[in-house]
Amino acid sequence: LSEKLQNTLSKLKSKGKLTEKDVKEAMREVKLALLEADVNFKVVKDFIKRVSDRAVGDEVMESLTPGQHVIKIVNEELTALMGSSQSKLTFSSKPPTIYMMVGLQGSGKTTTCGKLAKHLKKQQKSPLLVACDIYRPAAIQQLKTVGGQVDVPVFSMGDGTSPVHISKAAVEHANRQGLDTVIIDTAGRLHIDELLMEELQQIKAAVKPQEILLVVDSMTGQDAVNVAEQFHEQIGIDGVILTKLDGDTRGGAALSVRAVTQKPIKFAGIGEKIDEFEPFHPDRMASRILGMGDMLSLIEKAQSNIDLKKAQELEKKMRTQQFTFDDFLDQLQQMKNMGPLSQVLQMIPGMGGKQLKNLEVDDRELVHIEAIIQSMTREERSNPGLINGSRRKRIAIGSGTSIQQVNKLLKQFEQTRKMMKQFMDMEKGMKKGGRFK
Ligand code: GDP
Ligand code: MG
Repeated sequence: LSEKLQNTLSKLKSKGKLTEKDVKEAMREVKLALLEADVNFKVVKDFIKRVSDRAVGDEVMESLTPGQHVIKIVNEELTALMGSSQSKLTFSSKPPTIYMMVGLQGSGKTTTCGKLAKHLKKQQKSPLLVACDIYRPAAIQQLKTVGGQVDVPVFSMGDGTSPVHISKAAVEHANRQGLDTVIIDTAGRLHIDELLMEELQQIKAAVKPQEILLVVDSMTGQDAVNVAEQFHEQIGIDGVILTKLDGDTRGGAALSVRAVTQKPIKFAGIGEKIDEFEPFHPDRMASRILGMGDMLSLIEKAQSNIDLKKAQELEKKMRTQQFTFDDFLDQLQQMKNMGPLSQVLQMIPGMGGKQLKNLEVDDRELVHIEAIIQSMTREERSNPGLINGSRRKRIAIGSGTSIQQVNKLLKQFEQTRKMMKQFMDMEKGMKKGGRFK
């Protein structure tokens, strides 16, 4: 999805202010990207309107292309919508701090109780897990198993006592035992129903939790919105824990849930194992949703006239470091109508201008570069290591340039090759589950 988006963005050519047409075109793709990411339709609509209002007439920053400027605005607004910074748990000034986990059945509450307990233990807290799901068979045993895994005590009174009573008794127990944190695992239903909500309201009234944490399965996409809306309306939540992000490449639920509840997503579950849990970073999710970190496709697609097959061949060459002067020449020719290489590379998130200064390639130079490469033999082009002093001299004479210019190009080529390799390695790293790193 991001490829298409980037394609559109790279085509915006106007300078000065962003025109309504520019913005409209870009927004059509942003909208599709968000919908494909399974963001709720209404959330998308509001978002597009806000970004458009801000973008039209905006002065394009000197150092950016219009496309980059639109990306910048979209990214900023998306990050703002997700909540700009990592949101931490709060603690009660009068222990124990009570956290109440709510959510639909199967959303991951019980698992997350264990994960959270482990997380808190690392912060020198002593948690108590409380088994308030008395309805689902084996739910209590499941919490005990989880508690055992993280070496945290589990408070339960079987399935014959009301959850309200159990939670009150658990808090007293924590007080007596000097445990400073209480995590209440509640029951869920397959659908939201009144009885469930009533019971949760009663537990809330009885123990006055510091935070009610809504556990949401990110795989439910659009549905997550209804769930979040209703839990928030009827019980009032303080934060969200998004589970199963490992299975959701799109991230739309995160955006929707945050947008409708205005409550921060505090943690993310990224696997079934107890350790697969981490603080949630809204900014990272924002770029992931639009795929703006997908550098390779950015390079590929920004070069609007490079064909796909060639791009794939090139990618393979970069990977194996067989990128030659022939490829370089090919690239330069394709790049002529899309601005300097340094600018293309700057579109890559995280790659500031700094590393790229020596790569400035202006149009006049391009003519020289072409001439130099064309003066190389076939062998020299594919194996630049061959190009010694006397060959350099020959190439300079043949191309009507100087030895300095030849040297400069050889150096640039080496740098490009190294950088390509680095990008490829980074890319590989990102694909290999570095998604939240
Ligand atoms: P509950 O009904 O809300 O208490 O949900 P459970 O804690 O019993 O979890 C339901 C299922 O989701 C279990 O099979 C868990 O292993 C699984 N699960 C929970 N969190 C995650 C997660 O972050 N990633 C993955 N892949 N599975 C998860
Ligand atoms: Mg459960």
